[in-house]
Amino acid sequence: MSFSQIIGQEEAKSLLINAIKTEKTSHAYIFSGPKGSGKMMLAEAFAQMLLCENPGDDACGQCHSCHQSISRNNPDIIYVSPEEGKASLSVDIVREQINNNIVIKPYSGKYKVYIVDEAEKMNQQAQNALLKTIEEPPAYAIIILLTTNHNSFLQTILSRCVTIQMKTISDEAIKSHLTQKFQIVDYQSEIVASFAQGNLGKAIELATSADFQEIKEKTLSLVKRVGAMDEYEISQAVGEIKDLRDRDKKGEGNLSQPFVGQILDLITLWYRDVLLYKATADDSLLIYKEDSYDIKQLADTCTYHGLNEIFDTIDHTRKRLSANVNFELTIMLLIVGLKENSK
Ligand SMILES: [Zn+2]
Repeated sequence: MSFSQIIGQEEAKSLLINAIKTEKTSHAYIFSGPKGSGKMMLAEAFAQMLLCENPGDDACGQCHSCHQSISRNNPDIIYVSPEEGKASLSVDIVREQINNNIVIKPYSGKYKVYIVDEAEKMNQQAQNALLKTIEEPPAYAIIILLTTNHNSFLQTILSRCVTIQMKTISDEAIKSHLTQKFQIVDYQSEIVASFAQGNLGKAIELATSADFQEIKEKTLSLVKRVGAMDEYEISQAVGEIKDLRDRDKKGEGNLSQPFVGQILDLITLWYRDVLLYKATADDSLLIYKEDSYDIKQLADTCTYHGLNEIFDTIDHTRKRLSANVNFELTIMLLIVGLKENSK
């Protein structure tokens, strides 16, 4: 992984590249950001360039060390993470894989790089053990802590690390990445990008997920028909959503966000489109461009008051779900709320 392969994160990249070129790297870094924001990629690009035999403005990608880094076989890059299925990163792991290992000089490079994944899972004891190393590291050592929550670190750790906050990526950059790298058609990438909120990892997950496609199709068919649904069709729709929820609960889903949450987000985006078209009559702003015919028709028939009611209904649905109110009843109320205000 080289810096040039990373989308966005311009500030972080130039900070790290400059540090290498001017030989002013810190011994300890924290890369902080949500899952999918590219922390590991950034750490691997940094490690590869640190160890590259012919670095310029980036790792060369050609030398022996780069080849080892790319295949994750570089003996001077040590990956540390919690044991599979364990909720915490234990003090034993910190001692064995970092503290005891760090005294051994690098095999061939100038540096030895430790990439600690899910570092927020270190408990206080583990952090204290790590602190000893961060306070007096060998000259060649660089420790990178990857975390979704840097507030979980002791102040004494925070103050000794350079913290880099991962940035969200623009919808445009996400869309062009999805269309180029994953051959996702334009209108699909539009929906996925609005969904991912600047998180490229999430965008890729959604764009390549069959589950997400299915959820999207079912949701679209619901919002398009809901105004004309009779009781029987409503209870069928409730059943379909319940089936999706049950599949998700059984762990068959491969998405990081619950299916029902995705459905509610998709419904919200749909009515946001309706509202937007009603207010502007501009269809270039729509996310569901493919369905602009349906959006326009709804924008004609829905009132502003009705749309407001729909957003309230979706809000109530989220609250009921998180309060564990009866699932089928909650979804039934949602669909009835959409139906009443979709005409
Ligand atoms: Zn190289």
